[in-house]
Amino acid sequence: MNYKNITIAGSGVLGYQIAFQTAFHGFHVTVYDINDTVLEKAKAKFETLSKAYKRDLKASEQKIEKTRKNLRYSSNLAEAVKDADLLIEAVPENPTIKIEFYKKLAKVAPAKTVFATNSSTLLPSQFSEFTGRPTKFLALHFANTIWIHNTAEIMGHPTTDPEVFKDVVAFAKAIGMLALPLHKEQPGYILNSLLVPMLSAATDLLVSEVAEVETIDKTWMKATGAPLGPFGILDVVGITTAYNIDKMTAEKTKDELKIKTVNYLKENFIDKNKLGVSTGEGFYKYPNPAYEDPDFLK
Ligand code: NAD
Repeated sequence: MNYKNITIAGSGVLGYQIAFQTAFHGFHVTVYDINDTVLEKAKAKFETLSKAYKRDLKASEQKIEKTRKNLRYSSNLAEAVKDADLLIEAVPENPTIKIEFYKKLAKVAPAKTVFATNSSTLLPSQFSEFTGRPTKFLALHFANTIWIHNTAEIMGHPTTDPEVFKDVVAFAKAIGMLALPLHKEQPGYILNSLLVPMLSAATDLLVSEVAEVETIDKTWMKATGAPLGPFGILDVVGITTAYNIDKMTAEKTKDELKIKTVNYLKENFIDKNKLGVSTGEGFYKYPNPAYEDPDFLK
């Protein structure tokens, strides 16, 4: 892998974290977004992330300064991608927006540039034909709070070049990630293939009145040694995400219990702005949620 110049498209929640992490590990990074106003907002996140890296990773001021020097910003796509060895796409999770983006990108990117999508729910084969380089296209999926939860799931589509795949695995390691290669396309990758059914089973147990939130979480925590139970996890992920996933399932399957779950989440959480850690309350109250109390599992 001899990547040096990396372009990150989309400077939102995940895009800016990926940009910062990549620059922190010594790569030259160009951040691209639709206009300069959005890019100004991204630049402001530099200070917040710097503080987090100092606090959580004990990063030195010197390393943060180097990170700053490795970051450039541009709202001109051709300019942003002109030297890129790798472009990581983190534009909104909307197939139409992503297709339009790849069509535009394919016209201006040099032939050498590898494209990687950070999409959480869409498959690379949905977009490969619009990239103009299907063999140099795959998914590189990060998790929120990338510097702590440093997983990188790497997933090709049927015609991804194995050499490109290997290079992206090496790149993921080079930016401090735990590289997790998948051998075939899988909606939800590994993490969400495991997590979504588990969280969904937890809300099913709750809505069917089998047991309360705390009892379900205590069971999972004690029996598996996990630091959080499913409802603790739901608060971190955000209840809106769970609600949206359940709503899609309910509409598709017309399953009675799922419909009940959707209504339950809407009435008790969404409508009351109890969305989890981000709003200070979800299934638990924050800071100091009950499951962090040393007596919780007694
Ligand atoms: P976001 O809405 O926070 O950010 C999207 C960014 O893309 C915004 O800055 C927006 O201005 C920009 N954008 C919009 N249209 C664009 C275009 N045509 N070209 C370039 N940029 C454009 O979204 P996010 O949460 O950062 O998610 C981005 C991608 O990352 C999605 O595919 C999502 O599935 C994935 N992802 C998100 C998370 C998460 O926890 N938020 C985790 C893993 C992966």
